[in-house]
Amino acid sequence: MHAKVIIIGSGPAGHTAALYLSRATLKPVLFEGFLANGFAPGGQLTTTTDVENYPGFPEGIMGPVMMEKFREQSSRFGTEIITETISKVDLSSKPFKLWRDGAEEQTFDTADSLIIATGAAAKRLHLPGEDIYWQKGISACAVCDGAVPIFRNKPLAVIGGGDSAAEEALFLTKYGSHVYVIVRRDKLRASKVMANRLLSNPKVTVIWNTIPIECKGDGKLLNLLITKDTKTGEEKELSINGLFYAIGHVPATELVKNQLELDTDGYIMTKPDTTYTSVEGVFAAGDVKDKKYRQAITSAGSGCMAALECERWLSEHFPE
Ligand code: FAD
Ligand code: NDP
Repeated sequence: MHAKVIIIGSGPAGHTAALYLSRATLKPVLFEGFLANGFAPGGQLTTTTDVENYPGFPEGIMGPVMMEKFREQSSRFGTEIITETISKVDLSSKPFKLWRDGAEEQTFDTADSLIIATGAAAKRLHLPGEDIYWQKGISACAVCDGAVPIFRNKPLAVIGGGDSAAEEALFLTKYGSHVYVIVRRDKLRASKVMANRLLSNPKVTVIWNTIPIECKGDGKLLNLLITKDTKTGEEKELSINGLFYAIGHVPATELVKNQLELDTDGYIMTKPDTTYTSVEGVFAAGDVKDKKYRQAITSAGSGCMAALECERWLSEHFPE
């Protein structure tokens, strides 16, 4: 199969790119993945309940329902959606070559241009009890989940000492009665400005040299965290109703490692304010290139940018 443009990834970024490109009659092909990166087609939002901060849905919308709507909309204008995972690409010459998972020895697909929108996944700790209370008190996104009623005026905890942890903890002070930040060392990794803001907030207590070891609750919702002092080994109980992981994300860039320029955390580097990658004709959109905002709306926004930039690039390099 040869396409003018192939999109890899099926979250808000991939489907927004597909919507714009199909409306531009470029007949995009979108590989939505088959449990790619551990997610069902549709990406990270298929693992959540209410999405309340995506404009246009004043009552909120369930994540999986929203992604089904994204899919319907890109299909409606002619996007060809293939439920397979791309396991290998060759970006060294044009047209670009792509191999489907399980068929690497067989023939490959080709494309004049590519949009990489493979997303990212929050790091988890896999503590005892974590699976029971995931999304029932435990979350990896304070901005997404912090405002839900179970956290209102309740003690909350954030794990991590980086900029994300600082940002999430400060954000949560608007909702929780108090926010504990659990840091495994005796110092923060966060930038000075964020660290100062965090340490001077009266609603925040940093618990140093401490790691979480078990999550407990009443079977329905989380209410207790068991922690351990990394110096003394002492175990303690912390009563909390919300636990937020901010220990980093892993971008899904294995596919393009050594072929596209990545930053030190593995995110695809793009030219400032664009979706252009280090290889001409390859564009990147969504969480795979964004370690700062990581929201559905920002991913969709960069999917739109990638489509417009790709369309322009194709018209310059492959005029009809
Ligand atoms: P993703 O959503 O990560 O989707 C990419 C998908 O592409 C993959 O998951 C996979 O299905 C597919 N794929 C990956 N690799 C391949 C491959 N090699 N071949 C084919 N397919 C592939 N944001 C908000 O704005 N509001 C919220 O309320 C909100 N709640 C959230 C709740 C949870 C539990 C989580 C985890 C995230 C939440 N987010 C929320 C963040 C939001 O989900 C992400 O910012 C957004 O989904 C990123 O979109 P994306 O298109 O970059 O990629
Ligand atoms: P970071 O990798 O910077 O920080 C992760 C934090 O989690 C560290 O404190 C780390 O501890 C801790 N950690 C990691 N693994 C574990 C574990 N298993 N148990 C306990 N703690 C753990 O990730 P961030 O997501 O915070 O930031 C990623 C990048 O994005 C950074 O470059 C950051 O500057 C940037 N960013 C910028 C923002 C802004 O400018 N406003 C907002 C958010 C992110 P340790 O220090 O001991 O390794």
